[in-house]
Amino acid sequence: MQKCDLESLVSDIRAVFDTQDFIPLHAPVFSGNEKKYVLDTIDSTFVSSVGDYVTRFESDFAAYVGSRYAVATMNGTSALHIALVLAGVDADSEVITQSLTFVATCNAIRYCSAYPTFIDVSKDNLGLCPEKLKTFLESSTKQTTDGLINTQTGRVIKACLPMHTFGHPAQIDAICAICADYGIPVIEDAAEALGSRYNDKHCGSVSTMGVFSFNGNKILTTGGGGMLVTDNEALAKKAKHISTTAKVPHAWNYDHDQVAFNYRMPNLNAALGCAQLEQLPVFIEKKRQLASRYKELFETKELSFLSEPAQARSNYWLNALLFKTQDERDIFLTMSNEQKVMTRPVWTLMHKLPMFKSCYRADVSVSEDIETRLVNIPSSVIL
Ligand SMILES: *Cc1c(COP(=O)(O)O)cnc(C)c1O
Repeated sequence: MQKCDLESLVSDIRAVFDTQDFIPLHAPVFSGNEKKYVLDTIDSTFVSSVGDYVTRFESDFAAYVGSRYAVATMNGTSALHIALVLAGVDADSEVITQSLTFVATCNAIRYCSAYPTFIDVSKDNLGLCPEKLKTFLESSTKQTTDGLINTQTGRVIKACLPMHTFGHPAQIDAICAICADYGIPVIEDAAEALGSRYNDKHCGSVSTMGVFSFNGNKILTTGGGGMLVTDNEALAKKAKHISTTAKVPHAWNYDHDQVAFNYRMPNLNAALGCAQLEQLPVFIEKKRQLASRYKELFETKELSFLSEPAQARSNYWLNALLFKTQDERDIFLTMSNEQKVMTRPVWTLMHKLPMFKSCYRADVSVSEDIETRLVNIPSSVIL
């Protein structure tokens, strides 16, 4: 692309948002009962981890995603941590995941003193690639009395943690089927995928456990917050127990039966969550409209736009453009940010970060190609 074409691309994006002001990547929208519910918690004095809004947010959320249970936590990372602990991930074990993800996925693995094992993503959805997962499991693992061993590292593989990138569903059915053959539990990092469905099932509700985030830039925000969902009653009970200091329920005694976490979502945040959840269908509709405007715009410019994969309905949390070359991408990044249209490249791949560079990785060529060419563009809900 010529420099002038890239220039007009920036003004086209600005025109979509119809403003001369700074255009953020993703701003929250509080157009419903947010103030009312938050004030309610203050009036009631129940602002902390006990309160009606926490319970209500959990049950409304579970109903929305179609899981039997939901446990609210203070952020998505803590929900990931709990899910991994419950899946039996322990010191010196391994968790299969993708290198193209947000750092929280891998941090949570390291909180368990386990190591991420990097498999490539699929080109069309940027989620964990089922074919490459299968190739890795066939060629580089063996079943032993200790469990499934990565023959390259000698460590036991305890779980698989695929991520639904930018809200586009990964091929979760295929991933779960392959992992079931090898006896590996799957946890979905659905932090970005609230409202996204694959084969008519909500992301995060397909595998053993799913995790969501309600950080300020996510499709629904509680300020900071997360959720663990599951259909398994025992796992749900344990998740709640270890997120609340493993306190044994009692009217006045303070008794705890294991070392645990203080990860529970406060009522104040849950109040915001209840109000946001009421508006979620509208948010998703608006985001899908924005994505289709982008799609039309980029088609005329022969630019590649990340569209929802087959059999999927995406929430289009963050829209993504793919340039032909890194040069073009870099010029566009500079130009757009200079002109106050916020854009950013995809995260630095996890296997390039100092904390994870010595972790095992299989072929990650698609991730490496995407890393050089992708840009996220403004994706806020326009009401
Ligand atoms: C946002 C996010 C998380 C969790 O983030 P928190 O800020 O802890 O809520 C985890 N994984 C991915 C892929 C994310 O995008």
